[in-house]
Amino acid sequence: MEDYKNIMIFGEMDGEGLSSVTAQLMRIGKRLSEELSQELSLVFLGEEALKGTEAGYGYGADKVYMGADPLLQNYMTDACLQAMEQIVGELKPSIVLFGQNDMGLDLAPRLAFRLKTGVTLDCVDLKLDSEKGLLEQVKPVFGGKAHGHFCNTEGRPQIASVREGAFDPAEYDASLKKEVIAFDLSLDPSGVRTRFVKKEKDESMELALKLASANVVVCGGRGLKKKEGMDLIKETADLLGGAIAGTRPAVDNGWVPSSLQVGLTGKKVNPQVYIAVGISGALQHMAGCSKSKLIVAINSDESAPIFKLSHVGVIGDYKGVLESFNEEVKRIKQEG
Ligand SMILES: Cc1cc2nc3c(=O)[nH]c(=O)nc-3n(C[C@H](O)[C@H](O)[C@H](O)COP(=O)(O)OP(=O)(O)OC[C@H]3O[C@@H](n4cnc5c(N)ncnc54)[C@H](O)[C@@H]3O)c2cc1C
Repeated sequence: MEDYKNIMIFGEMDGEGLSSVTAQLMRIGKRLSEELSQELSLVFLGEEALKGTEAGYGYGADKVYMGADPLLQNYMTDACLQAMEQIVGELKPSIVLFGQNDMGLDLAPRLAFRLKTGVTLDCVDLKLDSEKGLLEQVKPVFGGKAHGHFCNTEGRPQIASVREGAFDPAEYDASLKKEVIAFDLSLDPSGVRTRFVKKEKDESMELALKLASANVVVCGGRGLKKKEGMDLIKETADLLGGAIAGTRPAVDNGWVPSSLQVGLTGKKVNPQVYIAVGISGALQHMAGCSKSKLIVAINSDESAPIFKLSHVGVIGDYKGVLESFNEEVKRIKQEG
């Protein structure tokens, strides 16, 4: 275990910049690296991501690595897993952090299994335990009613995936750009059991990506009563530069795709502002949004449980409330 040292972040790009969750991981990674006096490295896979990866230095990385191989050109689990196994096996970091998203959820548990170590998914906080300096991984449990604190006492590295929005993004300093270090990989094609066929644009996935990193989320529930209610939700979200979402009944009724469901069995979001429209506040729903900085509830029933779980409550029919709100936002925007 003593051989394992330093903090590694699995990096993801969004266009030519770091994805929002990677920039957030850099903040906590930097803090851990300072507290442990260890290096912080950032790893990217695939040549396609090469553009702009040196920006990782600007977010505070001591080293930025690039693992390139033809098999990594398009995301395939087996290829990325082999690559991470080789990189982690050689660099031996003590801590490896992933974003809690499709890629992180695909790779982190598999990597932990291959390396015979543990993993904690969906962390909302990370710190060092005062006794042994282990990574204390904090995640919501029992449907968000409590927080569990976990330490990996035996395996190395300590692997965790971190929920989008759990940390603010690290500050960026463009002057810190340096050269990305190429990592020599030797991937075995026979170990890659899938074949890349084609890329297709999926609108619901695009909306889901937007939801994951949005500062403002406007979520509609059964109280909307019909699909057209989502048009108003969308208008509000667009005016605020935010994303739309739905509760399970909104998904079951076909008002939003299932990729936009928030809750225990859906997405977990932590935006600055969460506007819950026509939502009762069931625990299974709140498990996906209770970490939002500000929860605003709009509900016609003054005894709705959500009013006990929100910071701001508006009692009234959602249609009238949102229409007036949207008009007011438009007026303010027009006035500049
Ligand atoms: C194992 C399990 C997992 C689950 N996972 C999830 C999950 O991931 N996500 C999820 O959302 N749910 C989940 N559920 C379902 C959950 O328990 C609730 O049933 C669901 O969240 C309720 O959704 P809702 O608030 O939209 O509807 P309701 O509970 O029916 O609430 C509708 C609200 O709208 C209000 N309303 C009505 N008319 C108006 C109006 N005109 N203007 C304003 N307000 C109005 C009502 O007063 C009411 O409070 C799960 C359930 C189980 C058992």
